Amino acid sequence: MIATDVTYIRVDSPEEAVLAWKAHPGARYLAGGTEITTTARRSAAYPLTALIDVKGLVDTQILENQAGRLILGAALPLSALDDWPGFPLLSATVKGVADHTVRNRLTLGGNIAGMLPYREAVLPLLLADAAGLSIVPGVGSVAPSRKVWRLRDRFDKRLTLEPGELLLNFSLPEDCTSLPWAHRRKTRIGPVDYPLVTLCLVRHGQAFRLAVSGVHPYPLRADELDVALSAGAVSSRVDAVLEALGTPRSDQRASADYRAALFRLMLGSALEELS
Ligand SMILES: Cc1cc2nc3c(=O)[nH]c(=O)nc-3n(C[C@H](O)[C@H](O)[C@H](O)COP(=O)(O)OP(=O)(O)OC[C@H]3O[C@@H](n4cnc5c(N)ncnc54)[C@H](O)[C@@H]3O)c2cc1C
Repeated sequence: MIATDVTYIRVDSPEEAVLAWKAHPGARYLAGGTEITTTARRSAAYPLTALIDVKGLVDTQILENQAGRLILGAALPLSALDDWPGFPLLSATVKGVADHTVRNRLTLGGNIAGMLPYREAVLPLLLADAAGLSIVPGVGSVAPSRKVWRLRDRFDKRLTLEPGELLLNFSLPEDCTSLPWAHRRKTRIGPVDYPLVTLCLVRHGQAFRLAVSGVHPYPLRADELDVALSAGAVSSRVDAVLEALGTPRSDQRASADYRAALFRLMLGSALEELS
């Protein structure tokens, strides 16, 4: 049970959403609501005064190609991307998250802006060098304004948003989506489980780009990994990437050594597939 009264606010525009955030101290943006409701039920320390429902906004529900850039709304359910032919690596990645029924609730923005550390949907977007569009409430009497930013500049372990900033959508160049790609995901108990390791790999000419989740308690795409992948036999590239990654996390689900061994096999097979 959620122990406090919560005001539900439905808005018709992004500007209205950020103004509602300003008018209701402690308000949160509501997307699929799975993380918000679970956290509020479990912890009285999770402040919840008002929920601003952003699922009905056109900017957050968009899924289209605009002049060679694909636009993906932040409130799209992950299930909308499951079989979407526009970005096969993204489809393969979101299909790994939970099951189809749960993916009807989980949203792209919630997956990336939420607190759970996996944030798998961000991996293909980091590889495609996606941009984000958001809106921020102005300070004092300043009007709300929209911002466009490079995802890689804002994503360091997690997405950095300003207070009250509402994520509207992501955009990425269409030609990135046709690069050769590989996706690998391993869990401990079966397909519907958090990943021990998820990796996404794309080949750009002779160069590779890699993004990983599960190895550390945050998703990672780093230039050092791409450099480590750039030359040598498959086994020496894998060694170089493992060294650049540092010691994997160790928890009750898998030791650091186990994750490293798993990662070695997964990256080796992905590299062979794309070589
Ligand atoms: C059963 C289950 C299995 C899962 N398995 C996986 C998995 O295998 N891999 C994985 O990566 N994740 C997994 N998740 C995590 C899930 O993707 C996240 O918890 C995600 O936050 C849920 O999305 P939501 O739309 O319900 O978020 P919400 O609960 O609506 O929001 C989460 C947070 O993000 C903020 N937020 C949402 N949208 C926006 C926006 N547009 N702008 C600014 N802030 C926003 C909210 O204010 C809130 O703080 C799983 C979750 C569940 C419930």
